[in-house]
Amino acid sequence: MVLAQLGGSISRALQQMSNATIIDEKVLNDCLNEITRALLQADVQFKLVRDMQTNIKKIVNLDDLAAGHNKRKIIQQAIFNELCKILDPGKPSFTPKKGKTSVVMFVGLQGSGKTTTCTKYAYYHQKKGWKPALVCADTFRAGAFDQLKQNATKAKIPFYGSYTESDPVRIAVEGVERFKKENCDLIIVDTRGRHKQEAALFEEMRQVSEATKPDLVIFVMDSSIGQAAYDQAQAFKQSVAVGAVIVTKMDGHAKGGGALSAVAATKSPVIFIGTGEHMDEFEVFDVKPFVSRLLGMGDWSGFMDKIHEVVPMDQQPELLQKLSEGNFTLRIMYEQFQNILKMGPIGQVCQLPANLPLILMACFNFSKLDSSNPKLMNESRILRIARGAGRPVRDVMEMLEEYKRLAKIWSKMKGLKIPKKGEMSALSRNMNA
Ligand code: GDP
Repeated sequence: MVLAQLGGSISRALQQMSNATIIDEKVLNDCLNEITRALLQADVQFKLVRDMQTNIKKIVNLDDLAAGHNKRKIIQQAIFNELCKILDPGKPSFTPKKGKTSVVMFVGLQGSGKTTTCTKYAYYHQKKGWKPALVCADTFRAGAFDQLKQNATKAKIPFYGSYTESDPVRIAVEGVERFKKENCDLIIVDTRGRHKQEAALFEEMRQVSEATKPDLVIFVMDSSIGQAAYDQAQAFKQSVAVGAVIVTKMDGHAKGGGALSAVAATKSPVIFIGTGEHMDEFEVFDVKPFVSRLLGMGDWSGFMDKIHEVVPMDQQPELLQKLSEGNFTLRIMYEQFQNILKMGPIGQVCQLPANLPLILMACFNFSKLDSSNPKLMNESRILRIARGAGRPVRDVMEMLEEYKRLAKIWSKMKGLKIPKKGEMSALSRNMNA
């Protein structure tokens, strides 16, 4: 997962600091320097890192730390807030409304995953009952129209483009007009990928924007973009009114810090992330759960109360009893995911990757996972489960990682008094400590 290494380095720096008997300025500085190094190594822009360090120092009061407050928690919270600030400009993006025509224009560097993301975005909305349509205004890249056409046909989404017309502005306008007449409520315009040095192409992008008057311009960015990210993103923002960002290839092992910088440069929220090449490997993005996971915090506030909503009444005592015995098994995770799925968008309920329950269910349907100790599963067993479940090995590995993460969090419940309804928030605060 992108940025996982950064999360690990920050957690280690915090751990080292909490091992110190006395937290003085030197210990705090060492910790912050370690975190700064990790952020720079992950390609976060220098100025952002420096500002973050200054802000944390302002917020963290050494006297509080000396008074025996939970130092790790205070500093972790400050880092959490600063990272959230980078990713969240504090104002939501324009949200298209179902049934009312909106034009959304996609821009980005070539190869960032723009065309793929256009279809994912259209498909996501189509599944929710929208009437999307795709317009290919990339008249330059050979095969761009074919790629969009192929994706659109697969997803049964209407599309517009031309093999002969070379003026992107004209195609964009014609496509938008046509789909407005056809009462499509989400008209998506894919444009040609470009780099900041290509002034003429930026002018072309500006013209497409002026002619189609998009309600929203989405900047698509590959998570593996390095230190150049900030300047590139800023160049796009200066030419067209970027209102939202989608970060692609979050399934890879990129350092990812460049993406954080680029988001800061556009001052626009990340609305979705791409997590694979397939049409449905696309997730709504929420800043706080993402940063909590990055820092290994696990944002469980509210989750315990959700157990009462999600888990049928008659199953609650048994579940809580098992959890209080420190007994968190793959079977429990599987059953609770099933309950949670019934509640609708899983990400909003317990902030897990959206397709995780589906992976787990596919694996369960194939094999008797209950009898396996996830910690002892070897490569060939994982391979067999993945094959049987019809999922990539990466998915099964991710599911097992998530299990380990949850098991670690739930292990904190061992020996705790089983709470009643209403006492849950207090308990979840306890678990987050
Ligand atoms: P464009 O030039 O910006 O339009 O980029 P494309 O849409 O053609 O994508 C470039 C490559 O990135 C293709 O091979 C896509 O399959 C791949 N791609 C796009 N999004 C993702 C993603 O979220 N994860 C992964 N692994 N690959 C992606």
